[in-house]
Amino acid sequence: MIILLEPQADAKAVSAALQGLGLWTRQLEGEREPAILEVEAHSARVEPAAVLALPGVAQVRPRRSQHPRVDAMPRTFALRCGSGLVIRFGEEAVLAAGPCAVESPEQIQQLAALVASSGARLLRGGAFKPRTSPYSFQGAGAEALRWLAEAAAAHHLGVITEVMSELQVDAVAEVADLIQVGSRNMQNFALLAAVGRKGKAVLLKRGRGASVEDWLMAGEHLLAHGAAWVVFCERGIAGLSNETRNTLDLGAVALLRHAHKLPVAVDPSHGAGRRDLVVPLAKAGVAAGADLVLVEVHPQPALAKSDGPQALLPDQLLQLAAGLGLQPLEEPPAIGTAHTSRLPEFYKKSVEERRRQLARTLGLSADAQRYLRHGGLDMAIADRMSENVVSTFALPMALGLNFRVNGRDHVVPMVVEEPSVVAAASNAARMVRATGGFRGDATTSVMTAQVQMDHVPDTAAAAKVIEERRRELVAIANEAIPRMVARGGGCVDLDVRVLDAENGLLVVHLYVDVGDAMGANVVDTVAERVAPMLQEWVGGDIGLRILSNLPLRRLVHVECDVGADFLGGEELADGIARASRFAEMDPFRASTHNKGILNGIDAAAVALGQDWRAIEAGAHAFAGLSSQYRPLCTWQRTEKGLHGVLEMPLAIGTVGGSTRAHPGVRTAMEIVRVDSARQLAVVMAAVGMASNLAALRALAGEGIQQGHMRLHARKSELDPHLGKAGAA
Ligand code: PEP
Ligand code: MN
Repeated sequence: MIILLEPQADAKAVSAALQGLGLWTRQLEGEREPAILEVEAHSARVEPAAVLALPGVAQVRPRRSQHPRVDAMPRTFALRCGSGLVIRFGEEAVLAAGPCAVESPEQIQQLAALVASSGARLLRGGAFKPRTSPYSFQGAGAEALRWLAEAAAAHHLGVITEVMSELQVDAVAEVADLIQVGSRNMQNFALLAAVGRKGKAVLLKRGRGASVEDWLMAGEHLLAHGAAWVVFCERGIAGLSNETRNTLDLGAVALLRHAHKLPVAVDPSHGAGRRDLVVPLAKAGVAAGADLVLVEVHPQPALAKSDGPQALLPDQLLQLAAGLGLQPLEEPPAIGTAHTSRLPEFYKKSVEERRRQLARTLGLSADAQRYLRHGGLDMAIADRMSENVVSTFALPMALGLNFRVNGRDHVVPMVVEEPSVVAAASNAARMVRATGGFRGDATTSVMTAQVQMDHVPDTAAAAKVIEERRRELVAIANEAIPRMVARGGGCVDLDVRVLDAENGLLVVHLYVDVGDAMGANVVDTVAERVAPMLQEWVGGDIGLRILSNLPLRRLVHVECDVGADFLGGEELADGIARASRFAEMDPFRASTHNKGILNGIDAAAVALGQDWRAIEAGAHAFAGLSSQYRPLCTWQRTEKGLHGVLEMPLAIGTVGGSTRAHPGVRTAMEIVRVDSARQLAVVMAAVGMASNLAALRALAGEGIQQGHMRLHARKSELDPHLGKAGAA
């Protein structure tokens, strides 16, 4: 029996408690927490449930496996890349592409642009190359690591690069988001230990002559020494054919993914050794279960310094990416050309001058320009948007300026009644802009539908039936939403949760990729369609069938750095970091902290026709997911200033809802200029982050009242009851 402990468990105490049950254990070696205990053969027979009941015990595995840490590794993992990108392995198809070897800064920059435009998320490229002949190109070395990191950062990609020796581990770990251990080093145990100690995610290539068991054991070495996570990469083993470089063992891909439930990558480039077979083998790899496809690409394969014959041509990479259903992350702006969001002294201009400058800068359509001039809402449209309508109600539409997000400028329309929200966000965005702007990413737009079932006679059996008929249920769900499926979305997965076994309360979650829509209607349709089916299978009564406003598979992640000099000094930076810590420790403060974030997000949400109540509900539920209500955005001191990170669910859409019906929303969409709901989510989250930064800066500095009240005073002048006297 193998016993996995909980993260903070005291191994000695657990072992003593086990001895009390008659179990003699030995702690498996390795430097990693939590510890693993192995039960010795001369122990008494004890039911696993009794062991599981002991404090500190996380899991009990009945049979002895040689690789308990590999067995316990989760299949999905969020890889947070240095460039700010977050990749959720196991939940989305991921493509990694790049040259065999990084040859020059120009070569890797050119390829990074291509890779990013294809929709691939990771840039590969070797700085240190394992070559069969000592006379072949051995890689450009440490310098190439820098070129690779710069190219990835410029194009918002993660980095995979190979480490060949213990001496290179530090340098490689510095730039690699996924450290590659090559085929030839799969059983270099000293290297595996050194790589593991870095605590990062590792891509472990299978040795050319390695059995699956040896490969899994190599993964165990990495994990035992502290690796965060291991992706097993099949790249071909020794075979009988001379026509391919290796034999790509797709059986092993399927085995690891489906039987061992491990994260798997496939490298058809080294598997085939020839360009014409790479794309078909990549697709076969995905069909077999690979989460990640790793391919080599070169703009001029004939001139490549290594592995030219297997490098895809740029067009082939684009075809492969499209075949995998990837969406290019950053398409060129739909309207006009690249524009700036930096409009200095905009606030000093008259409203009419501002409109003209905006229209010029963004190349606004005639419709949008007309809307800006007159604002408002046609009564006929208003009457169709709600019930019992008697009038329309107006609020100011303003512009959040200076936003730079993932290398692109965005002017953000904001509608809010509170003074200082827009100025504060624009101000903070200007400070962040000086260090490159915001970086971020959103998951695919997967919404959650819930179906409640009550009085189910046997919830455990019901859960099993639903799990077993998962594919059938997903197919039924998709029949209800053919148009979404045709657009590339649809139901992708489901979960079963037993909430109360005694009373037969069970809830089924259906996960639906809603593409660029907010998706509430789509998931509600799905929930209603599958409910009768569920009832037929498991009995009981159908309860609610509705979306959850806590869409945990629809998250946005944004980061930024801001220099202390731009903030107004080290003291302010310290003060903001302390304020962030305060919010982390205290729900009373976290509530106000999060309100500051939502100041910005809600203002953009209203302008852009989004359901801000859904956003609020999701944000607060997410903040309260752990035992304590937490801040959605946190700030830490860095050498140069502050590093901020924000993560939250954000269910918003760029199609459907009021995006088309309301001319103000159409205009706002034209102004913000995004190509997808995911991109909009990142921009909106950046606005939240800027609002938070501005609020903390004011609070840590002069206090909120001074600046805030100046703007309030201006508004109070308009109060017919207070007049100027009221403002004073
Ligand atoms: C590579 O990916 O560049 C490489 C050398 O791969 P492998 O270790 O699979 O030969
Ligand atoms: Mn290669």
